[in-house]
Amino acid sequence: MTAEDKRSISDFLDLAEDAVRLGYRTERRPRAFSDDAAPTRAGPRGDGAPRPAEAPRAGADDSLERIAAEVCACASCRLAQGRTRAVPGEGVERPSVLVVGEGPGADEDSSGRPFVGKAGQLLDKMLLSIGLSRETNCFIANVVKCRPPNNRDPEADEVGACAAFMDRQIALLSPRAILSVGRVPTQALLKTSEGIGRLRGRFVDYRGIPLLPTYHPSAILRDENLKRPAWEDLKLLRDLLSEPGRS
Ligand code: SF4
Repeated sequence: MTAEDKRSISDFLDLAEDAVRLGYRTERRPRAFSDDAAPTRAGPRGDGAPRPAEAPRAGADDSLERIAAEVCACASCRLAQGRTRAVPGEGVERPSVLVVGEGPGADEDSSGRPFVGKAGQLLDKMLLSIGLSRETNCFIANVVKCRPPNNRDPEADEVGACAAFMDRQIALLSPRAILSVGRVPTQALLKTSEGIGRLRGRFVDYRGIPLLPTYHPSAILRDENLKRPAWEDLKLLRDLLSEPGRS
């Protein structure tokens, strides 16, 4: 990555963070950036990383609307009891990128929409910085569609009960890439117990789709040190999508 790339991404995301946290721009000290010695582009890796089973095929009569209706009526796990609204996901039908998060929070539970709180606002800014949005070329969903109480991590059996919905969404959406934000969705999709710090920063083949793990926006809001690696992940995704036939 060039110094200019790093500066422009950092400036943009500083702006996004100020907008989300404060609602106005703050002055920041100029930072020094340098070019990386040898740019590398990660591709789907073949290094023995955990790989999921073969993808289920989308049924001829399946649709995103049908999945959403089934999600809203679902009571297959205990999370149904505490939800206000289920959150099936939203975005375009043929997305460049499917963003997969953990589960709805309070704002999502009350609105029925994914990533609409502060973390969601930062996610939108992050996507926008590389030319992506849920309105034009992304779909956003979670591995569990109902809010876990007190924002706890979803249990393994809850993720398992909800997995068929995610499988069907992926089969229908057929995204060019998946951006997995945070430890929980990444571990759930890749069937691994490795931490997000070890998994992020490189693509993994997920049923023939390049999947890039990165940090969850809420983690970035909590820990400023995660901004830099998250920006680097976004640049990897932008580079992948800029390849001929990818975007
Ligand atoms: S989290 Fe998923 S499996 Fe559990 S009730 Fe909600 S939609 Fe059904």
